[in-house]
Amino acid sequence: MSTASQAGITPSHWYNIIGDLPFELPPDIAQDRQGAGGTVKFQVPLALVRQSVGRECDIAIPAPVRERYNAWRPTPLLRAERLEQALGTTARIYYKYEGNNVSGSHKLSTAIAQSYYYSMAGTRRLTTGTGAGQWGTALAVGSRSFGMACKVYMVGASFRQKPYRKTIMELLGAEVVASPSGDTASGAKSLREGGMDSGNIAFAVTEALEDALSTEGTQLSVGSGEAYSILHSTVIGLEAQNQLASLGIAPDMVIASLGAGSNFGGIAFPYLRDRLRGTSNVRCLTVEPEACPKLTRGVYRYDYTDGSGITPLQKMYTLGYRFRTAGMHAGGLRYHACSKLISALYHRGLIEAVAYPQTDVFASATLFARLEGIVPAPEAAHAVHAAIREAERARDAGDSPVVLFCLSGHGMFDLAAYAEYLEGRMQDVSVTDAEIRASLEALPKIEEPELV
Ligand SMILES: *Cc1c(COP(=O)(O)O)cnc(C)c1O
Repeated sequence: MSTASQAGITPSHWYNIIGDLPFELPPDIAQDRQGAGGTVKFQVPLALVRQSVGRECDIAIPAPVRERYNAWRPTPLLRAERLEQALGTTARIYYKYEGNNVSGSHKLSTAIAQSYYYSMAGTRRLTTGTGAGQWGTALAVGSRSFGMACKVYMVGASFRQKPYRKTIMELLGAEVVASPSGDTASGAKSLREGGMDSGNIAFAVTEALEDALSTEGTQLSVGSGEAYSILHSTVIGLEAQNQLASLGIAPDMVIASLGAGSNFGGIAFPYLRDRLRGTSNVRCLTVEPEACPKLTRGVYRYDYTDGSGITPLQKMYTLGYRFRTAGMHAGGLRYHACSKLISALYHRGLIEAVAYPQTDVFASATLFARLEGIVPAPEAAHAVHAAIREAERARDAGDSPVVLFCLSGHGMFDLAAYAEYLEGRMQDVSVTDAEIRASLEALPKIEEPELV
């Protein structure tokens, strides 16, 4: 690897793409939670609610948030020269490395911001659900840095597969339990009834919500899929623009993996701004796992955002909230849907999507680690693989594009997955059309609001 640019300072503003959208976003539909005494109101701080609907493009980053960002931002912008040489490509490959903080992923940028707004709203303790563990780790750091306690309900299967995720969250000051846990009424009931030992993210969020509703001074932070999470993540793309501009470079293509959308939106939205304003033709490409192909094989419909049936319905590309992704290592890309912002942009052809099988993704990640000296998180490895495929295509076509991708996190907690790959035990998981159809049948049946 070579350091292309560490230049610049942390941006002073986040970029809100809503202000530049040439169309209306379909509205959310509030849900009545049947049989549980009416609608559960999330106590999301007003500042975050405003950030999800406002049309102001530049939103000032509060000084206390910026100060904490300065501990690891701006993140490195690197050129993968040895990888370029190994591929024999005429493309130039740059990447933004977001794994250089104690939580190990890009999620810390929104975890810090969300923690700030919750603490300003008087919250003393945050709860959350986490699947692969990156979100829980980021929130552990965020809560601590604003003097709040944090309790993480981690999907049981993941909790047992990745014991060091628990250790790092505890090291950083959070309390961590496997979900289902004995600590909530819903968890205790599930344990008594048996049959769901491995847990799932929807249930972990349900437990975190029950805890928040029944504990003084406690709120649930829902994680990385909200519009405000993408907003906070735009520091990634804004920094990259400064860093590349200082070298006189503008990318032809921006690539990132797709879970809920915060690392893709984070790096791509500042570039899409230029495209929406007519000053650039940059292509933005999201990469999803073949085992969870929401954009490439899902439908654009109203669905629950988290599968617990508590949150408002949003219009998104989805595989259906009951969709269960089996046997795939990129836990952070397992989400059944993706952000309504990403969905709307895809629906209008403003961004592109591709899906790859995990063995190909791990092959590329292994090559990248050997040449560039960073072990990609399995999620980030999807972006690595797509960048390699684009560079090979450019080589074969005799093009020399500039490709920028987001290396959203490191994979030092994912060595069990790498061991499986290196020992030849990893398998690809394919999803049949029938499975997707069956899952889509469970979508909530509602009348779609008409758009003006
Ligand atoms: C969570 C995660 C993702 C996917 O989530 P997004 O919200 O789509 O960004 C990607 N990479 C890493 C390292 C993650 O932890």
